Amino acid sequence: PRDMLGNRVNSQGLLWSDPPRAEPLLAEMKKSLERLPLAAPIIGGREKADLPAPVTDPSDRTRVIGQVALAGPAEAKEALDLAYKAQGDWDRLGGDGRAKILEHAADLFEQNRASLMALIVREGGKTLPTAISELREAVDFLRYYASEARKNFAPQAMPGPTGESNELTLHGKGVFACISPWNFPLAIFTGQVAGALAAGNAVLAKPAAPTPLIAAAAVRLLHQAGVPVDVLHLLPGSGSKIGAAIFPDPRLAGIVLTGSTEAATVINRALAARDGPIATVIAETGGQNAMIVDSTALPEQVARDAVTSAFDSAGQRCSALRVLFLQDDVADKMLDMVLGAADELRLGDPFDLATDVGPVINESARETLEQHAEKMTRQAKLLKKLPLRPEHKNGVFFPPHVFAIESISVLEREVFGPILHVVRYSAGHLDKVCEAINATGYGLTLGIHTRIESTAAFIRDRVKVGNVYVNRNQIGAVVGVQPFGGEGLSGTGPKAGGPHYLQRMALERTFTVNTT
Ligand code: NAP
Repeated sequence: PRDMLGNRVNSQGLLWSDPPRAEPLLAEMKKSLERLPLAAPIIGGREKADLPAPVTDPSDRTRVIGQVALAGPAEAKEALDLAYKAQGDWDRLGGDGRAKILEHAADLFEQNRASLMALIVREGGKTLPTAISELREAVDFLRYYASEARKNFAPQAMPGPTGESNELTLHGKGVFACISPWNFPLAIFTGQVAGALAAGNAVLAKPAAPTPLIAAAAVRLLHQAGVPVDVLHLLPGSGSKIGAAIFPDPRLAGIVLTGSTEAATVINRALAARDGPIATVIAETGGQNAMIVDSTALPEQVARDAVTSAFDSAGQRCSALRVLFLQDDVADKMLDMVLGAADELRLGDPFDLATDVGPVINESARETLEQHAEKMTRQAKLLKKLPLRPEHKNGVFFPPHVFAIESISVLEREVFGPILHVVRYSAGHLDKVCEAINATGYGLTLGIHTRIESTAAFIRDRVKVGNVYVNRNQIGAVVGVQPFGGEGLSGTGPKAGGPHYLQRMALERTFTVNTT
């Protein structure tokens, strides 16, 4: 879709409060769940469904929603062989040819939005509003990277004084492994794959262990849209086992990982240790994200934005707010409102429109959160913990918590879930707050609430983070509008959904012809 001036526009949302529009979609989503989909390795277009195991819903573990068959080292190597051979033709198709296919895929994603959203809710445990945002983000990635490929991958003449014609072209680097997390099982999965494909690479797509069904649905649609089956392969399975099979192979040109800082470090070491060409590593990793609130901020706005940033998607967003800094002369008032807003959150089945906070992804995530909450309860002050109710017993629920802590430095690493920490700071000490945030080493998102422009600018110019948001929440970056990604322990760049993403996955060639 384009606007009247021919510019690319992002995909449309849905007004959930409008029953004539919402109800048919909900009915279609429910119907799609009657089928039990299968995720299997998809290699050269063939699905290898050996020994499938059930996939269950994190909001109710008694509900089976599909089956998964895993890829091992043999499948990973077979996929790499095929991808390596197929990449040249895909690259020669050119930016425009690849863009048409990705745009067709975007249309197919929209046509299949009910079944994709149903899987995001049931397999990923995400609420209905976040499921539609995620679908839109996936569609926007496809169209945005298509338009970037069309714009930047056409040959560029390099006029000069040499009596020769010179041309610069961009090409795919080869085969990329796209390794994605479960927290945006469609959007980040699709964004990585679409970016690598748009740049002319072949792709081995490795979804996170908890969310293979959504990934398989996305790969089928990409094939249906015209991505050659030997150019895109799906490898559901253990990251470390698949990684061990493909990382030493010099035919792997690079990896894109979105996941924890720890996984990125392990993968970077493995790739650095191999012989052969140096691999490209693009890592988008975790954060220790802060929001700074001064005494001029509007309390209602702070309450809404802090609670949304901390607890939307059960806090399982890399951008989520972890540490709320409140200026001490307004801290009590602000905190009352934040805790009051948190009290209103409803924890429950994500398929219910009234639910604000769904389950966490699995038992091991819940255990990590429980351990952190236990430690904080001993070391800090528990300000709020929402209750768990009998209807949560079959699901992997962890209720929102709020703790008062002395300093951000007590948090050693990212804790990925609905736990908010609050720190008070004194007026005149903003520089110390900025230093403390930088000292964590992470640099992903930052929220600022102030009515003073120079205060916002002071903070922005000191805190080393990739995405800063003033007087709003700090989640939900929009493709092509708010390019997203961090620095330091939060990632290598380039920013996803930004104008430099495809270039990092491409190489440049110069072609010179003597014209005299
Ligand atoms: P994770 O445990 O690091 O896993 C991410 C992916 O890496 C999964 O597909 C995983 O496979 C794979 N993996 C892990 N170790 C590997 C290895 N040694 N070799 C090859 N692959 C390996 O992260 P997650 O729990 O899925 O996701 C949550 C994390 O992602 C959080 O830290 C969050 O902040 C971060 N995140 C960052 C961004 C961003 O844009 N900066 C966006 C979203 C999420 P398995 O599932 O098979 O282990």
